[in-house]
Amino acid sequence: MKVLAILYKGGSAAEQEPRLLGTIENQLGIRDWLESQGHTLIVTDDKEGPNSVFQKNIVDADILITTPFHPGYLTGDLVSKAKNLKLCVTAGVGSDHIDLNACVDRKIQVLEVTGSNVVSVAEHVVMSILLLVRNFVPAHEMIERGDWMVSEVARNAFDLEGKVVGTLGAGRIGYRVLQRLLPFNCKELLYYDYAALPADAAKAVGARRVEDLKDFVSQCDVITINCPLHEGTRGLVNAELLKHVKKGAWIVNTARGAICDKDAIAEALKAGQINGYAGDVWNVQPAPKDHPWRTMKNPIGGGNGMVPHYSGTTLDAQARYAAGTKSILENFFNNKPQEPANVIVGIGKYETKAYGQR
Ligand code: NAD
Repeated sequence: MKVLAILYKGGSAAEQEPRLLGTIENQLGIRDWLESQGHTLIVTDDKEGPNSVFQKNIVDADILITTPFHPGYLTGDLVSKAKNLKLCVTAGVGSDHIDLNACVDRKIQVLEVTGSNVVSVAEHVVMSILLLVRNFVPAHEMIERGDWMVSEVARNAFDLEGKVVGTLGAGRIGYRVLQRLLPFNCKELLYYDYAALPADAAKAVGARRVEDLKDFVSQCDVITINCPLHEGTRGLVNAELLKHVKKGAWIVNTARGAICDKDAIAEALKAGQINGYAGDVWNVQPAPKDHPWRTMKNPIGGGNGMVPHYSGTTLDAQARYAAGTKSILENFFNNKPQEPANVIVGIGKYETKAYGQR
């Protein structure tokens, strides 16, 4: 079979660090194994436009492997051109870069390595909450500049203790964030999700469900976004919703950039409606050099904790999602059942409830 993998360029880092498995250089560690079974593997990071290696090879590929970090965008148009495509594997978690509805129609299966990087992301979320609330980035930048003016950074530094933190989406990552926040003695932990947490799980973290989104955001000092991107969440955090966010709240989004309206976020931060925004996901990846989220600041010059998409691609996570990708392929080649939790789109239907209510 022809396997096409869209991965990110690792450069000299990938040559020096073989555990950077998700790169075009280290190829998820599956080339020798695939070739020994008679399959062909094409690996590229060239993914944009009709002349890209991705678009030229998708037409006769049987299997597509992508990652959310450098997403190969499999649009409906490309799905219709991909005559042989049977399986899409997301090496990681989050398959919104694939037109899932088109895959349902064409009976192309879409699988993720569910759970492979949820701890990695939850840790990044907790770090990002702390760096915003404590005004860490401007404090560090001051030190690098050679300056020392404590009041300039202390004027916008707070404790997380006593704050209300809410997660928009309380699945694997959202719940792990709540678990990790417990020792911080927050005033309250809230969640907004169309699926209620099991009663014992909610009780274990003391989380209260808020069923109305405006009501939810109006109560949170910190909002952490942990739901997938789908028709029901694209642009969910927009200018209208931001009006209901508590003034001076902090937002951390490690879910998907397009859940938040790019310009509305930049405006709200600039105006001080929100005090900070952090995360690693962007509406287009790689983010253009002039993307407002790279440099946006609150009125006193801080509140930006943006980084490239890497929270879910720690070396620990890469080992897990590379192994998980291999195991999905093995099951596919040998006609064995897949782990049910990994199946986003089965043959002709969604197998998960996380990508919207249908
Ligand atoms: P999950 O399926 O375990 O949980 C998702 C939760 O979101 C579910 O409980 C679902 O009911 C809820 N949800 C869906 N639509 C919603 C809506 N409209 N409103 C409220 N809640 C809604 O998934 P997970 O493993 O926790 O991952 C969540 C997302 O995080 C992924 O889909 C992906 O986009 C993102 N992610 C990012 C990285 C990264 O590196 N930044 C890594 C992994 C996952």
